[in-house]
Amino acid sequence: MRTAIYPGTFDPITNGHLDIIERAAAMFDRVIVVIAINSNKSPLFSKDERVELVRDALSELPNAEVILHEGLMIDCAREHSAIAIIRGLRAISDFEYEFQMALMNRKLEPTISTIFLMPHEKYTYLNSTIIRELARYRQNVSEFVSPKVAEMLALKYGE
Ligand code: ADP
Repeated sequence: MRTAIYPGTFDPITNGHLDIIERAAAMFDRVIVVIAINSNKSPLFSKDERVELVRDALSELPNAEVILHEGLMIDCAREHSAIAIIRGLRAISDFEYEFQMALMNRKLEPTISTIFLMPHEKYTYLNSTIIRELARYRQNVSEFVSPKVAEMLALKYGE
């Protein structure tokens, strides 16, 4: 059983994240989407809401699941016997931080590799911050997120 974890904040999950999950699910027996709990961040969506939105997005991917994790990602990978950590690379701007993290994780656990996947180019400019910002000003985000995420965003911003 070849397992990969795909960690992130997912505040909220977008079609760019989903594109990466679909690619990973085609390569691994099991993909675990890990919602990282970071006490320094104050997300728009609660842990449980983010889990619910990711779970809804994964409904057609039988080998993908979602969990919450607080602490180091490499510990999460070890706990689930993952052989890889998946990350999405959108642009050069992602590279420096991702490069540092991948090398540090490899130092901590040489047997686990970080794998970078590129989404379809139509998602390269997409991130959760932009989606929240668009939704806040009542822009239509249905092209970028699932109907359920769009609905939850509208509720958050009081529509
Ligand atoms: P962000 O707040 O940057 O959207 P997350 O912390 O939730 O993202 O991201 C988790 C992982 O997903 C990271 O590896 C990030 O680079 C990747 N990712 C985020 N958005 C996209 C996208 N539109 N296309 C591909 N990868 C993405």
